Amino acid sequence: MPQLNENFLKLEKNYLFINIAKKVKAFSEANPDADIIRMGIGDVTLPIAKCVVDAMKKGADEMGVKETFKGYEDSGAGYDFLKEAVSGYYKSFGVEVKPSEIRINDGAKSDCGNIVDIFGNDNVVLITDPAYPVYVDTNRMNGRKVIFADSNEENGFAAMPDENVHADLIYLCSPNNPTGSVYTADQLRVWIDYAIKNDAVIIYDSAYEAFITEDGIPRSIYAIEGARKCAIEMCSLSKTAGFTGMRCGYTVIPDELVFKSSDGQDVSISQLWGRRQGSKFNGVSYPVQCAAAAVFSEEGIRQTRENIKYYQQNAAVIAAALDELGIKYTGGKNSPYIWLKCPNGMGSWEFFDKLLEEANVVGTPGAGFGKNGEGWFRLTAFGDADRTKEAMERIKKMLG
Ligand code: PLP
Repeated sequence: MPQLNENFLKLEKNYLFINIAKKVKAFSEANPDADIIRMGIGDVTLPIAKCVVDAMKKGADEMGVKETFKGYEDSGAGYDFLKEAVSGYYKSFGVEVKPSEIRINDGAKSDCGNIVDIFGNDNVVLITDPAYPVYVDTNRMNGRKVIFADSNEENGFAAMPDENVHADLIYLCSPNNPTGSVYTADQLRVWIDYAIKNDAVIIYDSAYEAFITEDGIPRSIYAIEGARKCAIEMCSLSKTAGFTGMRCGYTVIPDELVFKSSDGQDVSISQLWGRRQGSKFNGVSYPVQCAAAAVFSEEGIRQTRENIKYYQQNAAVIAAALDELGIKYTGGKNSPYIWLKCPNGMGSWEFFDKLLEEANVVGTPGAGFGKNGEGWFRLTAFGDADRTKEAMERIKKMLG
């Protein structure tokens, strides 16, 4: 009989969104006429920009011609044309990242989850709470000790390090899922100093960087001095360009990220990760990489930013309704997420049920993202504009 990895048995029984889907399914079966508006799951709804689709089609056509057909990609780390495009994109907001420091993947979730492979299981892992559930789950699957930095109302849901607590691996996400909060350059500087002092690695998830609108909010951790010595950055085209169903993202590991092995050798994190990927990942399909490169072209940026503006408009509608109701929230400005305090002291799941039953609107209970999420609730701006307005009218009527 195989021995099971029983760490899996200690996880929450289901991934958060499966629990939500089950509840919504039961409600809609019991109320078949209910017109449900979904503002829960963080998936985009607008189609991919035309120039990006055209680039994918062209790539697909090339696969059907002997002279341009592509088989396995040599390194599996991404074609040079895409890595150069990503590097150029970083440059457009003032950050220097070499193409050789970039690896292309099938979305940020894979790398966020798989990066744990190259770090030992005795590391102390520090995760801000609440957080994207993948960070906690994938560490607990390996039986790792996870400690938390509290994000809460007092600190504007931007947790800061406790100088008296040691950590080896640190997960940060800005703009944050689920809270929509962002770190300022000064706050990131504190985290970087902490990481360097602790000889720790920051795993920085910037999946929502394209939603930053305010000047002075860093779009990359590498905008801050010292980050190249301690941070891995992961980003995704899912929310930037509607790639949730296409699957493409990128991870940056700077050359400076070198640590000692137990026998005193210098080990490059980039090489270690490359070794891992070499055995377990065969790269992203050529047509998808063609599409991804088009996202970073001048026209691609222009067209994809139109979609982001549309979602930002939805965020403004949600924020205005909450302002009218006098409900506290974070996010919305530099993020597609609005993180609101459940009214009248309600718990997250209690508010979820009330909203579903009385307004037929689905959101995400904050408690599903960690203990500090209890009493809070996430709405997303990724929906249709008219349906978002309708949802907020219903919520105003329900709570007004
Ligand atoms: N990181 C965060 C914070 C996310 O919210 C998500 C998706 O919702 C991801 C990573 C994963 O994105 P991808 O679709 O690229 O796997």
